[in-house]
Amino acid sequence: MIIVSLTGPTLPDVRRQVKGAKPFADVFEFRLDLISAEDRIPVLSLSPLPFIATCRPAWEGGAFTGPEEERFVLLESACEEGAAYVDIEYRAGRRVLDRFRGLLRRPGLIVSYHLPSGKLPDPARLYGKLHSAHGDVVKMAFVAHDSYQNVLAFEFLALARQDRQKAVAIAMGEEGEPSRILYKKFWGWGTYASTEDGRSAAPGQVRASELKKIYRADLLTPSTKVFGVVGNPLGQSKGIYVHNPLFRKARKNSVYCRFIVSDLGRFMHAIAPHLDGFSVTIPHKQQVMRYLDRIDPTARKIGAVNTVVRRQGTLYGTNTDAPGALDAIEAHMRVRGKTVLILGAGGAARAIAFEAKRRGAKVHITNRTVTKSRKLARELGAVAVAFGDAGDADILVNATSVGMTPHASESPVPRSFIRARLVFDAVYNPPVTRLLRDARTKKARIISGLEMYVNQGVRQSRLFTGRKPDIALMRRILRARLLGHRQ
Ligand code: NAP
Repeated sequence: MIIVSLTGPTLPDVRRQVKGAKPFADVFEFRLDLISAEDRIPVLSLSPLPFIATCRPAWEGGAFTGPEEERFVLLESACEEGAAYVDIEYRAGRRVLDRFRGLLRRPGLIVSYHLPSGKLPDPARLYGKLHSAHGDVVKMAFVAHDSYQNVLAFEFLALARQDRQKAVAIAMGEEGEPSRILYKKFWGWGTYASTEDGRSAAPGQVRASELKKIYRADLLTPSTKVFGVVGNPLGQSKGIYVHNPLFRKARKNSVYCRFIVSDLGRFMHAIAPHLDGFSVTIPHKQQVMRYLDRIDPTARKIGAVNTVVRRQGTLYGTNTDAPGALDAIEAHMRVRGKTVLILGAGGAARAIAFEAKRRGAKVHITNRTVTKSRKLARELGAVAVAFGDAGDADILVNATSVGMTPHASESPVPRSFIRARLVFDAVYNPPVTRLLRDARTKKARIISGLEMYVNQGVRQSRLFTGRKPDIALMRRILRARLLGHRQ
């Protein structure tokens, strides 16, 4: 059940919010504490769907500061106006809960508990308390500061399930996003979503349209396979837009979420057991290796894993960046016997250098920090060259971050430096960089980092779904996302 919180604050705002969210909502929640005092009763007639009446007091993290009796009278009026549920805080006390239980026109009773930021729940204790209040639904919410804390919500729901108690458990904040998406996987009764204007009643609420269209949250089941991307920050990550539609296309009961992880060890202990696979990004590509049962030999040599899948209960890690880049290059030119000059000595450079060498290329490396290119070249059996001494190469690869948005006017090398027949830029945002534009004027073949991104995603998707994905769809989605309009 997707519950959309209506926050107003005015009657026309609520009208707009109802109209925008109606296609994606099962139930509306009127957050009466956030709606202007004079509109609190008139808004109740705007809901075309069953609704929950909530008036959260300031002492529970809401905005209502008036006398408690005024709040209860308001909520009673909402019940008379036909509220399907009324949300009462556990800490309002037994007498208040009994008062609403005793109403002539008795709505379902949601007994809720909201922890202040910085406090984590003890799921068993809190569940025991809320369950003992004999509500129709128990609800708890807390602020998560790291993705592993979502497990507290899942544990709460597991306890409720044993008692067949309807329950909602929400980890608020961006780090708690998985708890909002995966509620049905863990037998949750519902999830709270924001309206289409993005006005949310609580931090980290996802738009109802995203829950429905991107994650298909309403169609998930306890047997849904969960995948995701593990990293921090994840603001630039496009994975949810790519993998979720691919799951849909492949008719897989799977979902892909964002896991913003600071403490990888705790995440691997608490959340990874619930996952069937995940992408790994900055800053965890190296550290994740210590938690895996098996690692592909090339990924081990590169020293970085960007894809993890569960195979017969064990975790297997591999690196799809490296073949992704080389497949993009080799779609135009075989690298065996060719000289490949790589700019950069960071993670991408390492992956590309190892794979190019494995496929028989002569690899030259140059980097701003010379000690790093020397070290990489030594490990690889390649040649480290000073920038000024870089001779002619068949293929030029930019594996630095120079030229990336918002510095799209920059290039890692002057135009006069470009003499290779083929130029590949690992940077994918923008899809055609300054370096590639310069290379085009020198009649070189150019390959966008988007191709590497697509290729690594194709391999990842194959590992996640067991079949070849729709590559044209992937490319379309990525282009649309990178150019800033939604697909
Ligand atoms: P990284 O590990 O942080 O390495 C960054 C590299 O860029 C280092 O070699 C660094 O040199 C160099 N660099 C940074 N600023 C520079 C400057 N102003 N002048 C010269 N060199 C500079 O990052 P990464 O993970 O390798 O990523 C590098 C690029 O590849 C990023 O743009 C990333 O988006 C892209 N990438 C693309 C894909 C894809 O699928 N297309 C996949 C992975 C990465 P120092 O060593 O001197 O600091």
